[in-house]
Amino acid sequence: MCIGLALLVGSGNTAASFAFASRILVIAPHPDDETLGAGGMIFTARRRGAQVKVVFMTMGDGSGAAAGMQSGTGRPSPDHMIALGRRRHGEAIAALAALGVAEEDAIFLGYPDGGLADIVDNRHWQPHEPYTSKHTGRASSPYASSFTPGAEYCASRIVGDLAMILADYVPDLVLVPHPLDAHSDHWASYALAMYAIEQLDYVELTGARVLAYMVHAGANWPQPWGYRPDLPLDPPQWRGSPQAAWIRAALTEDAIAAKLRALEQYKSQLVSLSAFLQSFVRSNELFSLAPVIDLDPPHESGPPHGDDVPLARPDPHPFRCLPPSGEIRLVVARRIKDGVAVTATLAWRPSPSVTCRLRMVSPVPTAASSEPLCEEPRSRVTELIYETTPSSERRRPWEAAFLIPLHDLESLGPKTLIEVVTLRRGVVVDRSGWILLRM
Ligand SMILES: [Zn+2]
Repeated sequence: MCIGLALLVGSGNTAASFAFASRILVIAPHPDDETLGAGGMIFTARRRGAQVKVVFMTMGDGSGAAAGMQSGTGRPSPDHMIALGRRRHGEAIAALAALGVAEEDAIFLGYPDGGLADIVDNRHWQPHEPYTSKHTGRASSPYASSFTPGAEYCASRIVGDLAMILADYVPDLVLVPHPLDAHSDHWASYALAMYAIEQLDYVELTGARVLAYMVHAGANWPQPWGYRPDLPLDPPQWRGSPQAAWIRAALTEDAIAAKLRALEQYKSQLVSLSAFLQSFVRSNELFSLAPVIDLDPPHESGPPHGDDVPLARPDPHPFRCLPPSGEIRLVVARRIKDGVAVTATLAWRPSPSVTCRLRMVSPVPTAASSEPLCEEPRSRVTELIYETTPSSERRRPWEAAFLIPLHDLESLGPKTLIEVVTLRRGVVVDRSGWILLRM
């Protein structure tokens, strides 16, 4: 039995008001992402009395252009970058005020701008093996306002901060960056947030919903760039599938105006990115469900889905074409006699230099820290990695097939976060984004 879940959805038209949500948590990689992705929704929620807290993963201290402009130098120093981070902290508080969110509901974690993917990819798990920021030269947060003062730049600290915030605040709606956002801090924020959520069994215990918002989907999105509040925000037309849908949240004129006012507080960003940022001030916002593959779906009925998962087909006008043929279109998983088979379908015939890697990371707490929502997150990370070469026959499907044997599955527990990447000579060409696999 198998359920395939599309990597990203096609043209969705499900509408939503989010009126159910009374305690909302927004996770933003950088100051401004909360406004771009959900500013109108935040304003609307505050208007009807809902509580909103925003977590900023980084201070946005990695923008050399903005720091250079602020400091009047072409080569900003680490101290200039930290000064930019402090400025963006102030801009974020002003932006949230425009959306009706009080300063005490802004939480700054202070992790490194431009470094979150490196922390995830290169396994800076523990405080004794921290990542060092290329921009600030620091391996721990230099900001007094950080949630954990002096927090080392490593995954366990980030996940620990997020888990503590979730357990303390207990939101009923969590907004996370999209797993396929093209900005590395965004997809890595998604991975770290989902790790914390799954480690706590948060959705199972609280019934909360988790929705994702997109900010970076390539230079052609949103279309057109610029301030056009009369136009809708349409989903990026790539990796389409009928199996999932975007949720459209329509915005009132008041909400659109508040979103623009909030965006205008980010003066350090508007200097160089004005048209792109303004293109998020539209008549609606977009949210999508977090991707899940459930090997044993609870309400299965009718014939098994196993054989009728549609093969991904390249779009007539592909959104992007990643040379050399490493673009992942679909990842599916199914239970077989000897374990679990994970198959990634590629959009194009791969060149011989393309390889594929499957990474599986288990967030399930061990017996020593099994008290949900109370205990410190465990320190040990269970991780498995598999590599393979995709089929490169003349005819599609072009697939990379992985077999996870039964004895490996036992070490992962009932759920795991998985990601497939394509590589060319060791360099990542494309990634599936992290997907929750329930076993
Ligand atoms: Zn961002």
